Amino acid sequence: MSREQQAVERARRAFFTGRSKPLEHRIRQLRNLQQLFIARQKEISEALKKDLNKSEVSTQMYETLGLEGEINLAIKSLKEWTAPRSVEKTLLTLSDTVYIQPEPLGVVLIIGAWNYPWAITIKPLIGAIAAGNAAVVKPSEVCVHTSKLMEELLPLYIDKELYPVVTGGVPETQELLRQRFDHIFYTGNSMVGKLVMGAAAKHLTPVTLELGGKSPCYIDKNCDIDLACRRVTWGKYTNCGQTCIAPDYILCEPSIQDQVIEAVKQSIKEFYTDDPKTCPDYGRIINQRHFKRVMAMTEDSTIALGGENDESDCFIAPTVLRDVKPEAKVMQEEIFGPLLPILPVSGLDEAIKFINQGEKPLALYVFTPNDKVIKRMIDETSSGGVVANDCLVHYSVSTLPFGGVGNSGMGCYLGKFSFDQLSHLRGCLIKQLKMEGVNSMRYPPHTEKKLSWARMFILKNPNLGWMGRMVLLAILAVVAAVALQKYFL
Ligand code: NAD
Repeated sequence: MSREQQAVERARRAFFTGRSKPLEHRIRQLRNLQQLFIARQKEISEALKKDLNKSEVSTQMYETLGLEGEINLAIKSLKEWTAPRSVEKTLLTLSDTVYIQPEPLGVVLIIGAWNYPWAITIKPLIGAIAAGNAAVVKPSEVCVHTSKLMEELLPLYIDKELYPVVTGGVPETQELLRQRFDHIFYTGNSMVGKLVMGAAAKHLTPVTLELGGKSPCYIDKNCDIDLACRRVTWGKYTNCGQTCIAPDYILCEPSIQDQVIEAVKQSIKEFYTDDPKTCPDYGRIINQRHFKRVMAMTEDSTIALGGENDESDCFIAPTVLRDVKPEAKVMQEEIFGPLLPILPVSGLDEAIKFINQGEKPLALYVFTPNDKVIKRMIDETSSGGVVANDCLVHYSVSTLPFGGVGNSGMGCYLGKFSFDQLSHLRGCLIKQLKMEGVNSMRYPPHTEKKLSWARMFILKNPNLGWMGRMVLLAILAVVAAVALQKYFL
């Protein structure tokens, strides 16, 4: 039996003991996980410094702070999330107890990506624990140091049988994907997303696919260009452009292109000094394979700003490309690096048309003081999420579902959405062993009269208050006992 198979078997056995289900267990595990982020902050930062040149502050800001927030929210809300959810009834079910009971799915596989390795891998784990599942955690092998640390630390804080960490590369992930899971939560590129979905289909396992793509950013000529570009510069160059929801490219009218370039230049200077290479807040490309991939994208476009690079250090300066054509290399796939192409368009109509010609993006950004422009962008395009006049921030809002649509993914998470995503929402109907008269209309022999009663019972929506329902219930009981006896029996 392979190591991967053993981990899944052990997790399933642990799940079948039932110990992942009591709320006290879930809360204890979540508290322990929280402890990990408080007590091991230094080691987490050191590993991320080696992997992506992340500073200690940015590690907390972009990785662990959000995790602590998600854990707090889950602990605070768990009782409410796990409680039966009552639903509207029809006349036919008025005397029944009808509700939704969230239940754990079983064993979840979480496959993480490398760019925000803690945030991306542990947020779904929080959802899995909260929902009462077991979960096999597969961190990305690309962030070498973090993956090793995750393997070391998680078993020290949380139940290592219920939530094992499996490390390794593509063969190990493939071996995991051959196993049977009750849900697979994958974060990474769309190409591998298709392989994950193919493997899941063999066991009819549901999937959440958190993918990427080219997230557009439209800048209206009437907005405060300096302010817009400051926010875009932050969104683009944080983590050296390796953010799934980074604005991938700018669409704007040619008349403001120079102004946009100048404003981005000023913001780069403000954030990363005149020499980003020595700035502790400026990251590095994860490895040389990705360095070469990103650099190759600049080949057929004009560099307006930046372009300096050093392969031995995986450094690429914050770069802006001007007058970029839709056919340019940089426009053929998600950039996932610090290149910001500007595509001139004639205005909002052309921007919308261009966006709709591509795959549905994970995020869409629009900068404008005009509400009508925002509304048109929302009404006439589709994307995982949309933000007006800022970048990235929607990922920090746990009350918004985070996820893609079409090529940028399926399913969503954060806060209660994670809980629901990794639960089965079980429909429950509890009937009493009485009032059989009401049921007579559904039993053969079927007659026109029974059908007209059924029409009334099924199609009439009793939109009544509590008192109204009680009165109706009493009437129904009488109807059931007397009238239906007469008509049906
Ligand atoms: P990656 O290379 O780390 O791959 C992710 C996981 O897939 C790894 O655990 C790896 O072992 C596994 N994998 C890779 N190739 C495989 C194969 N052939 N078969 C089976 N498993 C395989 O990460 P990546 O894909 O480079 O991550 C970057 C992408 O992830 C970008 O497209 C980015 O937009 C996207 N992303 C999306 C989100 C989101 O929340 N939607 C977040 C972060 C990253």
